[in-house]
Amino acid sequence: VREVERQFDAIQDAYFRSRKSDIQEVEKRVMAKLYQRDESFLDHLNYDAIVVAQDVQAADMVHIRSRHVLAICTETGGRTSHTAIIARGLQIPAVVGVQSVLDAFEAGDTAIVDGTRGRIIINPDEQTLATYIEEAGRLRESREDLSSLVDLPSETLDGTPVSMMVNIELPAEIEGGIENGADGVGLFRSEFLYLAASQHPTEDEQADAYTALAKNAGEHPVVIRTLDLGGDKLPYIDWGGREMNPFLGWRAIRVSLANRDLFKTQLKAILRASAFGDVRIMFPMISQIEELHEALAVLEESKSDLRNQGVSFDEDCHVGAMIEVPAAAVIADQLAPHVDFFSIGTNDLIQYSIAVDRGNDKVAYLFDAFHPGVLRLIRMVVDAGRSHDIPVTVCGEMAGDPHSAILLHGLGVSGLSMATPSLLSVKKAIRSITSADAVSLAEATLSMDSKDEIKARLSALLEEEGDPVG
Ligand code: PEP
Ligand code: MG
Repeated sequence: VREVERQFDAIQDAYFRSRKSDIQEVEKRVMAKLYQRDESFLDHLNYDAIVVAQDVQAADMVHIRSRHVLAICTETGGRTSHTAIIARGLQIPAVVGVQSVLDAFEAGDTAIVDGTRGRIIINPDEQTLATYIEEAGRLRESREDLSSLVDLPSETLDGTPVSMMVNIELPAEIEGGIENGADGVGLFRSEFLYLAASQHPTEDEQADAYTALAKNAGEHPVVIRTLDLGGDKLPYIDWGGREMNPFLGWRAIRVSLANRDLFKTQLKAILRASAFGDVRIMFPMISQIEELHEALAVLEESKSDLRNQGVSFDEDCHVGAMIEVPAAAVIADQLAPHVDFFSIGTNDLIQYSIAVDRGNDKVAYLFDAFHPGVLRLIRMVVDAGRSHDIPVTVCGEMAGDPHSAILLHGLGVSGLSMATPSLLSVKKAIRSITSADAVSLAEATLSMDSKDEIKARLSALLEEEGDPVG
């Protein structure tokens, strides 16, 4: 396969060159059969190991149950590719997008995978190893220190509440979120239910999963995002063939609207769960108002089917739109009257507004949440939300970083949803500033033209508060 790949690499025509991925797909399937892997990715590991791979698909990540996976290193991917997002949720250190990392390793090597700094040290000397063992201990201690924040309110120094929720990929993750004091689930990436199964889950299976989530959340809200397949979440199943630009292609709400039965099955399952808790529905990747109207019409049909069947659900179940396409941010004022809330997906908003593939290691240096253009787009969405009196939250990775979380609060975002492990460090940062300081910082950054200046200003503010956040 490597030999055939080299032949493809030499092809001049970009389209034919990219067909290399078909060969890789065949290889993956053959290997999956040989390892009798299917739905038990890495289950055969019976010793602690660092997994080094060219790529680990998001669809495979959901099958990692083995406690022996100590860390993951891949050649492809970026900080917000779904493989990295799921690793963060599972608390597995990961360094992704390292070119030629496969060649650098020999089986049996000892290595340090420093996910915080994005560094891999193969066969470290004794002193480096000792330093890192010490640092790992400190990290564990500071996590323990943070646990004292679990029961404290999520608010700024002056008592302004900031709702803090968790993003989850698998229903079972909710327990960790609630234990860490989350105010609910701000994003359930429901597509992972589909990716984890060998065929589409039925309405009953989905209703059971969503109902369990609603019950586990108690009085807290659970935002279930409808299917967002495509992009880097391509399952093994044939999803209409490979695309040249999957992130710009047949993805998310586009797939749902083209598969009404699939869409209605999911909407009915979510509505059924709404009878058991504060369940909310969210549409991903809305790019134009027609899509929103169409999605809402399918939702109405689903409600009417359930009424006819005598099945109970919450008639006022809240419906929101993700704002993750720049054009949607610009027309947020036109979208706002039709929904109950907005949730900004900064991972995609950054990718689409800066034109930088979130999974491409070669352009990862350009992917930056502090780009002034991104901040202005966020502000536009907040303003639209305010003038139509609907809440605006953020559920991209930007919400899980203490620095950017403060900036988002200052920009007027009312809630933050993030991976569970980020919850307490973000809470600590929010509790260390006043709302007025966050607002004036955000105002100041909006007129800055360089992201480095914005970052320097943020670091300075946090240090002034006497509580620098890493
Ligand atoms: C986002 O785009 O920011 C988001 C939260 O959705 P996902 O990462 O699943 O694309
Ligand atoms: Mg997204």
